[in-house]
Amino acid sequence: MSTVLQVKEFPMFMDGKWQAAESGEWFDIIYPGNGQTVARVASGHKEDVDKAVAIARRTFESGIWSKQSIEIRAALLLSFAQQIMQNADELAYLEVLSSGGTLRRVRNMDILQIADLLLQTAEFMKSYPYVEYLPIQPYPGPANGQVWREPIGVCAAITPWNFPMILAMWKIVPALAMGNSMVIKPASHTPLSTLKLAELAVRAGIPAGVLNVVTGAGSQVGEALVTHPDVDKIAFTGSTTVGRNIMRQAAGTIKRVTLELGGKSPSILLPDADLRLAIPGSLFGVFLHSGQICESGTRLFVHESQYDQVLAKLAEQAQAIRMGDPFDMETRMGPLVSKQQMETVLNYIEIGQQEGARLVCGGKPVQIPGCEGGYFIPPTIFADVDNQMRIAQEEIFGPVLSVIRYKDVDEAVQKANESIYGLAAGVWTQNINEAYRIARQLRAGTVWINDWHMLRSDAPFGGFKQSGFGRELGKYALDEYSQLKHVHASLVTEEKRRVAWDLLLESPIEKA
Ligand code: NDP
Repeated sequence: MSTVLQVKEFPMFMDGKWQAAESGEWFDIIYPGNGQTVARVASGHKEDVDKAVAIARRTFESGIWSKQSIEIRAALLLSFAQQIMQNADELAYLEVLSSGGTLRRVRNMDILQIADLLLQTAEFMKSYPYVEYLPIQPYPGPANGQVWREPIGVCAAITPWNFPMILAMWKIVPALAMGNSMVIKPASHTPLSTLKLAELAVRAGIPAGVLNVVTGAGSQVGEALVTHPDVDKIAFTGSTTVGRNIMRQAAGTIKRVTLELGGKSPSILLPDADLRLAIPGSLFGVFLHSGQICESGTRLFVHESQYDQVLAKLAEQAQAIRMGDPFDMETRMGPLVSKQQMETVLNYIEIGQQEGARLVCGGKPVQIPGCEGGYFIPPTIFADVDNQMRIAQEEIFGPVLSVIRYKDVDEAVQKANESIYGLAAGVWTQNINEAYRIARQLRAGTVWINDWHMLRSDAPFGGFKQSGFGRELGKYALDEYSQLKHVHASLVTEEKRRVAWDLLLESPIEKA
């Protein structure tokens, strides 16, 4: 892999400066394309978290950002977008190097998505109701009632390894838009692009100390953030198991929490669907980024009348997906993020076979010439899957599709909803009325009709059920990074008209 540079050290980024960990320790970053160490990153602990939180708090209280005008904050977000586009090659390189996502996707989608989010958020900020005026009501009588939306304070973000840049920016952008300061802890596999983004934010003119990155293990840095008394909010994306712990631990200091957790998203293919769209669309829905996407369409419900035909087409097209070196712009599917994730996925493939599901294609690791030692698993399809099997109920987070047979649509919808998760769902049909009828019944935060993965900067994204709560993206995300203050100014100057006071005071006028 000629594109990888020599091993480089990445300290943490706090207060606008690169800073080594207090302990002086480092950890390795492995390139998933060949299993080699490609970078070393500062290994933070509680003392580094304390330092970053103190910086973020001081910056917040100074008002340099929290009390900055909306117009200037919006302009600086635009300048941040400009920095991202100017440094797109480096960001994409760092992202591919640590996550194994294809350069084709990172360059053509991820970078554009985060720049678009900044652009659109700067736009939402113009019309966001920072101040709302309440009408005068009979009770409490003439008063100027206002509702203000204010920043929360110090927000902490804990992000996963599948889309390091995108998922960091889904938190950074609304937090900064609302005037908060932030401390972010990226996943230990993939901290490089987040560190670079924090540097670019400062280069864009966002004051030092507003956005700080602490790298290190979740059990150390993550927990220290979740339990820190001076952190006001935690935004987390990752596994449901860690999400549950975070919720429990955050209770100690009554932190605001938003969680974006796992998924096992169902996709229902109706007999009238246009298979020219539904077959490649279903494959796109599950195998993009080797299936390491929380909202991937991992359970495909197919009517018994066309089950064998659909399965054959799925297998044929899945096997044609070009796997390879993620840095090659022609590669459509790269490696899994880590050896551990590869083992997890292989273990689920084993479980599927033991449960009696039929392996139709894939299922074994493959060697890619030039990427020896990489963590490659080809598109894997299971047929004859029962919705109660573990491969249909548990998040695998790899390139594994479970194809489930159904007899009638209502049964498919019911089974689609039989899951602890509710992140996304989809339906393939040419009957739009039927599609909306089914969309109403699907218990998920996003429903795609004849499509998949189409997240937009202006639409809310988040889960139903144990997929979490809180919404990212759009103006909805601004709500999650602000708190409401009701300010009441009485317009009543005559004491005898202060009727409520009479509940306590017999004659306020005489007492005065
Ligand atoms: P985790 O949930 O363990 O990791 C997500 C983030 O949480 C990382 O930054 C991690 O740090 C951090 N973290 C880990 N433990 C703690 C803790 N005790 N307190 C606070 N933060 C913590 O996901 P994994 O990387 O282990 O992946 C496991 C599974 O999670 C996947 O197979 C997949 O099913 C699911 N997942 C879901 C994602 C989603 O988008 N919803 C994204 C990624 C994974 P560190 O990296 O240092 O461990």
